[in-house]
Amino acid sequence: MIQTTAVVVGAGHSGLAMSRRLSERSIDHVVLERGQVANSWRTQRWPSLRLLTPNWQTRLPGHHYAGDDPDGFMPVADVVATITRYARLVGAPVRPATAVHTVSAAPGGFHIQAGDDLYHARALVLATGACARPAIPRIADAVPSSITALTPFTYRDPGQLPDGGVLVVGASATGVQLAAEIHRSGRPVTLAAGEHVRLPRTYRGRDIFWWLQATGLLAERYDQIDDLTRARNLPSPQLTGTPGATITDLNLLAAQGIRVVGRLGRVIDGTAQFSGALANTCALADLKMNRFLNRADEWARAAGLDNDLPPPHRFAPTDIDPRTPLGLDLTRGQITTLLWATGFRPDHSWLDLPMLDRTGRIRHDGGVVTSAPGLYLLGMPVLRTRASTYIHGATTDTQALAAHLHSFLGHPRSSCRGSRPGTSVRQARPGGAVS
Ligand SMILES: Cc1cc2nc3c(=O)[nH]c(=O)nc-3n(C[C@H](O)[C@H](O)[C@H](O)COP(=O)(O)OP(=O)(O)OC[C@H]3O[C@@H](n4cnc5c(N)ncnc54)[C@H](O)[C@@H]3O)c2cc1C
Repeated sequence: MIQTTAVVVGAGHSGLAMSRRLSERSIDHVVLERGQVANSWRTQRWPSLRLLTPNWQTRLPGHHYAGDDPDGFMPVADVVATITRYARLVGAPVRPATAVHTVSAAPGGFHIQAGDDLYHARALVLATGACARPAIPRIADAVPSSITALTPFTYRDPGQLPDGGVLVVGASATGVQLAAEIHRSGRPVTLAAGEHVRLPRTYRGRDIFWWLQATGLLAERYDQIDDLTRARNLPSPQLTGTPGATITDLNLLAAQGIRVVGRLGRVIDGTAQFSGALANTCALADLKMNRFLNRADEWARAAGLDNDLPPPHRFAPTDIDPRTPLGLDLTRGQITTLLWATGFRPDHSWLDLPMLDRTGRIRHDGGVVTSAPGLYLLGMPVLRTRASTYIHGATTDTQALAAHLHSFLGHPRSSCRGSRPGTSVRQARPGGAVS
């Protein structure tokens, strides 16, 4: 058995940032990774993907973007390179090709079975990602077997698709990006849009992520959000990280020739049935976008920036064709491919510990698994602030959780802010505002 004080599972940016924080506190640890550093970006993303967060925002503890294109959007290869460099920079003790198969409670900590080795650790940090597998709805079982079904994990480029029409299900960041890419290849595309978050790429001359940060929205703490479950399950915004920062809303996609239909509700006898509430869904998304733009304008006024920025304006409401079809026969060859862009899920099925809720998700309080002292969770949406959903959120999340872990190990005079073991994390400030 290998003894170590702490084990971090996963060498994505979250696990590596935690490694850096543990090293700062001289906490002996290893990072167990089933593949290589940045494995999910190497193996689970489609090649044309670019981050939808601007380069200046890709920062981690001890790392800031230092390239010559701060307002650009990183392609996947650059994300892999950035995270790989970061692993070297922080000297993370990564054991690659070491998949963790089971974790169970043990006297004084946890037993972690990884590859052929059994580890014992007093503290365990789960950093295996919020997007470990595609979330596919049950109706997938009713889709005719003649249709080629793909997910964002299996999609590479339009060249792999059979000839014919494509139904993209889901109109969040992944769905709108892939619908646009497939449409550009000349295939007819139908996009089924359920609840979505509409945001402009830029507003009053600034990137939308500049506004999300400046207004303080990204720094909102998990324990101050009214409907935390909803916030944690919010779809990703309809944004694309294209060079030139162009808009990707449903109006634009429809104008390009993509047929936008309602949420895919059922598939019966080979016919896809779409919700008739598309116009309402879009009106709600427009309303919420305008609510945020109002907040942005108020903030700019209060900050005395009104005269330095272009004047406020609003975007055209989403225009829904009243003849939008409510059904589509999937058996007649009109549609040959269906792409599930219906979100992602974490995968903690290998944990032999009783803290999963009935949906298989870990119950936690800002990343502290209170039912299993010494266990921590990272990399989940709105883990401790709204920024946790994004790469840079790991900066403050790891600061707070490493401080908690440090105290848990019996160092009550930790110099870092964060709650103490045994107290509710809800009463403690996360590691400060996003700067
Ligand atoms: C399509 C897509 C686009 C995104 N775009 C952006 C964006 O523009 N900007 C942004 O900030 N964020 C973006 N994100 C969100 C976010 O950055 C990712 O969810 C991020 O990868 C999470 O980082 P992580 O380190 O927590 O997990 P991951 O990067 O997923 O790393 C988890 C690691 O754990 C390893 N692992 C898993 N299970 C085991 C096991 N049992 N044993 C050992 N190792 C294991 C995996 O191999 C992997 O290396 C995007 C996510 C997706 C899916």
